[in-house]
Order: sequence, then C-alpha cells, then structure tokens
Amino acid sequence: MKRESWMLEPPKGGLFKDRNDNQQKIEKPPAPVPTVREMNPFLNPSVQKRPENYDNKPSLSWQAKKIQRTIELAQETGKSLLEVAEDRFGSYEEFLKLREMIEVSKMKPSGKKITEEKGKKVDNLKLNKDEDPAILEKREKIKLLEEELKSARKDRRKAAVERIEYQIQILKEDINEYKKKKTFTNPDDMDIQTMLQMERAESRHKMDRDFLSMSSKVKRNNDDTFDEIQETRNKKLKNKEKKIDMNEERARVLSKEQKTIEACPFCLESSFFDNSLVLATALKSFISIPKTGALHPLQLQIVPIEHIPSMLHGDEDLWDEIRNFKKCIIRMLASRGFTVVFLETCIKFNKLPHTVIDAIPLPGDCINQVKGYFKKAINEIGSEWSQNKKLVDTFEKGLRRSVPKKFPYFYVDFKLDTGYAHVIEKEESFSIDFGKSVVGQLLGLDATQWRDNAAVIKDDLILDKRIYILKKTYPEFDWTHMLNDQ
Ligand SMILES: [Zn+2]
Repeated sequence: MKRESWMLEPPKGGLFKDRNDNQQKIEKPPAPVPTVREMNPFLNPSVQKRPENYDNKPSLSWQAKKIQRTIELAQETGKSLLEVAEDRFGSYEEFLKLREMIEVSKMKPSGKKITEEKGKKVDNLKLNKDEDPAILEKREKIKLLEEELKSARKDRRKAAVERIEYQIQILKEDINEYKKKKTFTNPDDMDIQTMLQMERAESRHKMDRDFLSMSSKVKRNNDDTFDEIQETRNKKLKNKEKKIDMNEERARVLSKEQKTIEACPFCLESSFFDNSLVLATALKSFISIPKTGALHPLQLQIVPIEHIPSMLHGDEDLWDEIRNFKKCIIRMLASRGFTVVFLETCIKFNKLPHTVIDAIPLPGDCINQVKGYFKKAINEIGSEWSQNKKLVDTFEKGLRRSVPKKFPYFYVDFKLDTGYAHVIEKEESFSIDFGKSVVGQLLGLDATQWRDNAAVIKDDLILDKRIYILKKTYPEFDWTHMLNDQ
C-alpha cells in the first residue's frame, strides 16, 4: 500500500492546528513565578535548603530547657535524676548525650548560648573552660551521680547507694588516669613550637605562683601591699642606676683629681714638686719655702701632704702638726725680732686646689696695726648685704668651729688659731692674693714686687738667697726630729 505524500508529512497548521497548540501548552507549562514570601526552597531558590542530616528533632535550646526542667523536677519531687530523666528522655544515656551536646555548643564561641531564665539554677550546667573536655564530661557525670546519690541516701536505698558510689569511684579513677597520661606525653611526639609554648606557659605560671606566694608571705609578715612591693622594686632599680651614675661620676672625678695631682707643685708624686724647697717633713704635712710670691726672705709655707682644698678637710693629727709648725715658725721669727701672720685662702674647690698656709713675717711691733688693717679690709669685701657675717673672730672657737667644712674661706691667724675668718660668698670676685695685698700695703710693698709674674723681684726675695738663709735658720727650731726620736 502506498500512502499519499501529504499523509507522510508532519502536520502543520490546517485542520489540527488548534489542538497541537493546546498539546504544546500542556507539555510545557509556564515556569511558576514564586512570591517573595514563598518559604519552600523547591519553589523559591533564594530560600536555603535544610541540611541533609536534618532529622526534624527539637532545637538545642528547647532541649536545654527540657534538661533544666528535668533537674528541677528531680529536686522538687525528691525523685532520683535517673528516674526523672528516663521518664522524660526515654533513657538516662539519651539525657546525658543531649546534655553533652548542649555543653559543647555552649563552648563554641559562635554557638548560641542558652538563655538563662531569671531565678533558675543553672550552676550545674556551668563549665570549667580551662579543663580538658574529656575530663569535663566525666566531672559532669560525677556531679549528676552525686545528686542521685544524695536522694538515694535520703530514701535509704542501700543497693542504689552502693552502685552509685562505685560508679563515682570508677569515674574519678578514670580522670586521674587521663591526667597522668596527659602529663607523661612523650615530648618526642611534640613539635618544637608546642614544646616552646608549653615551656613558656609553664614558666609564666611558675612566675605567677612564685609572685603570689612571695606577695602573700610579705603581706602576712609586713602588711605590705602589692603596690609597696612594686615601689620597693622600683626604688632598688633606681638606686642601682644611681649607683652606676655615681660610679661613672666617681671615675670621672678620680681621673680629674689624678690629673690635678700630677700637675700639683705641692704633691710629692708630682713632677712639679721641688724637693729642694722642703725644710722639714712630718707625717701629714711639711714645711717649705715658697717658690714664688714671697713678701719676705724668711717667709715659709705649711703644706698638707694630702691634696685637700682647705685645712678644714684635714684630721686632728694634721691640725696638731700644723700647730707644731706654727709654734716653730713663731719661735724662729721671734728670735729675729719678727712677729707673723698665717694666711690661708681656700676658693674654687671645683678646680681641686691644694691648700697652703703662708707664714709671713712682720715687724714685731706692728701686730695690732695688722689686725686693724685686716679687720677693715675684710669688712670692705663685697656688698653690705652679704648673707654671712663678714668677719668671724676665731678667738673663742677657733676656725673649725667657726666655718663649715664645705665653705670657701679666707683666714688670717695671728697666733695659733686666733684670728679673723671670712666666708667667701662670691669666689669669682675674690682675689687669691687678698691677704698678701693687705700685708704688702702694710709693708709698703708694691704687688709687682712679689707677685708670681713680677717683672723685677726684690733682691733679697730671690729664691736661691731665701733657700740659703732659711736652710741655715730654720732647723734649730724644727720639731719634726722628735718624730724620728720616738
Ligand atoms: Zn697637691
């Protein structure tokens, strides 16, 4: 049988057009347009599908409330927790499992925390975050069993008490075992980073413990506070720093002193020291001829061996020796018809001077005149408004009880520590030659004739002549031979 070609052709338009159109509509229905509020994830793709493991169980917060209520019920009714939990959760194991899940979710920082209702006791759900979760789990079980034990004892259920006690004991042993295992973990299994962290943490804890025990001891003994301990520590540190500073300063001063001594004309170890000028030496002082600046051929100097800025820095022995030298000089000059003034000028201690007493001979009958000259000259020093009394008479007290050790001063002694002292307030304007100038005026001498840089020195003041005369004159009055005889 042969079919006509139109019969074989696919239908198009014509007689069945409308029906075909309808069929197409049924086969491909228009895609549904979900409303914004559509919650079915299969209809609305913007809604997230439920997780695959979603088991349609009540939420954790609801479970937490149920657990909380179970504990409260056990407390209220006096029934054992085991009994109530079995009633409400089917089995005690299920109750514990859920409780652990809730605790773990609470430990996660991002996890939702169970809302605590006011007035409800949730203490037994609290976790010690510092402990290992495995230990925590066991502790929680012990806590529950202990609650159960209480009610079992209350109800005098002897068998239950024994069973629960045994369970608690087993759990406690488990915890100890676990802790031991953790302690004896083989260090070889750890990486260096972990070991370092552990060591750091351990040493930090040790420091904290030591500090706590120390501070508690101190507090017990002395009632000191933490602040006081800190303060003491800070003070110690500061003192240490100060000590270092002081040592540096001391080293600096020592080296300066060393340099000064090396250039000092009165120090025995100095290369500028001239031994030919020395007439006699005691233990702490010596007597010598002034190299320059002499106003009289018989002028002498009493010099302490130690490089000190003033005689007030010397000890009792030095003062005794000075007194002896003064006596000798007084006797020597008296034998020649002279009297004497002893001058000491102590200024500029910062330049580390070596003090000297000048013994200047004067005509024997002019001592009262000299006193008047010095009294006037001292009273004319500086302004009228000086802080200290300008003229200090040492007749009653002597120099050491009239002038403080640290002060710069000028002292004219007329006879064995009886004279006029003056505390120098303005060192920069006080002349080191003040005393000599006063004596020079009295003797009618011009300063150009006796000063260090004098162009022409009086003939009888030439050094060699003075040395010759004094080495012949002084020895018979010297006292230091008594030291050798002892
Ligand atoms: Zn010196």
